Amino acid sequence: MNYARFINQISARRQPSIIREITKMLANAPPTMIPLSGGLPNPAMFPFMEASFKLNDGSQFSLKGNDMKQALQYISTNGLESLVHQLKLVQETVHNLPGDFWSNRDLIVTHGSQDGLAKAFEMTMNQGEGIIVEEFIYSGTLAILSPYQPDLMVIKNDKDGMIPSDLREKLAQAKTIPKLIYLNPTGANPTGYNLTAERRREIYQICSKYDILIFEDDPYYFLQFGESRIPSFLSMDTDGRVLRFDSFSKILSSGIRLGFLSGPRPLMNRIVLHMQSSLIHASSLSQVITNELFKQWGTQGFLDHVHKVEQFYRQRRDCMSQAADKHLAGLCEWSIPEGGMFLWIKVHGVEDTWDMILEHAFKKEVSLLPGKPFMAEPNKPCSYLRAAFSLASEKDIDLGFQRLAEVIREEHER
Ligand code: PMP
Repeated sequence: MNYARFINQISARRQPSIIREITKMLANAPPTMIPLSGGLPNPAMFPFMEASFKLNDGSQFSLKGNDMKQALQYISTNGLESLVHQLKLVQETVHNLPGDFWSNRDLIVTHGSQDGLAKAFEMTMNQGEGIIVEEFIYSGTLAILSPYQPDLMVIKNDKDGMIPSDLREKLAQAKTIPKLIYLNPTGANPTGYNLTAERRREIYQICSKYDILIFEDDPYYFLQFGESRIPSFLSMDTDGRVLRFDSFSKILSSGIRLGFLSGPRPLMNRIVLHMQSSLIHASSLSQVITNELFKQWGTQGFLDHVHKVEQFYRQRRDCMSQAADKHLAGLCEWSIPEGGMFLWIKVHGVEDTWDMILEHAFKKEVSLLPGKPFMAEPNKPCSYLRAAFSLASEKDIDLGFQRLAEVIREEHER
């Protein structure tokens, strides 16, 4: 693939930092190396000595000595070496990647997937350029894209995600072919929809035909409620056209602010240069903690943990689905999400949910989100709302929907 066409002028002008290169070399330097190069502060002057963590599975670990020093020090921009290695193993296991997968690809630890997304879009986008998206997309992605005033090619979706035939038709009619597609394929935010395996394969083939780069934003990958996880775009990436954004936010901690980005090396290198000039690297403390967790658990232990998380959210999903049947039948329509944290609800007889949610529902002490912030084309009214089943207790989910039903009935009478 010719990656140069996906790198804009600003990104192409970024130069590597010699200091960052030296920091990377020092990670593997012998202890006899006399460190007179970088401006690494002396860890003896940091006040922190030791930290211990108790896990809710009964195990524990401590950070001390070199681990603690590393947690408090600058590290290489692409991430803590042992964590990067471990995360590559996770990707290989989970996505069933071929042995030579990393020969022309890399993995970078980011400050959450939002950080990776922002940098990846900044690497590729030019003012007014085209990009392919779904009708309803993650508002955080819209926040990155909107300053570019992009020419959005908006593709229809249904409960199985983006509709490939609509993509095919719009591309066949397009004057200019967008070079990027953004997809949030599993338990999408806000719709909760899972893009089916068949559609993923079809969309990949279309992207291959038109040489379109795929941004696979998949923070809910580990929250899937079906029999088995749907194959990712990364797992089918024979061309090297997928940038996959993973996140620890929903499975380890959102405050730890860690995600990881996997993709073609020429593009990963550009993103590393961007990181060198912005955050320098994702928090070493967060990376060392996560690395210790992986040392404790191994890949299998991590997958066991994720399975428990998945079961928890599946139960919450069931509870919200029952509450919706009980209180919202006849007033709204929805489809039961097979992943993620959200129920996407279309309200009958309400043209736009904005005031109803932000004024009337709020007064009744139930907080939801109107659909509008998730619309690729926000000029139209939006009769949808998003309900998250992640945080509220089962009892409160039921009460919340009871209140929502009252608000909708009052809205009909207004
Ligand atoms: N993408 C999507 C679709 C999301 O829903 C979110 C979190 N709400 C993010 C990215 C950002 O996640 P992170 O915490 O990893 O930055």
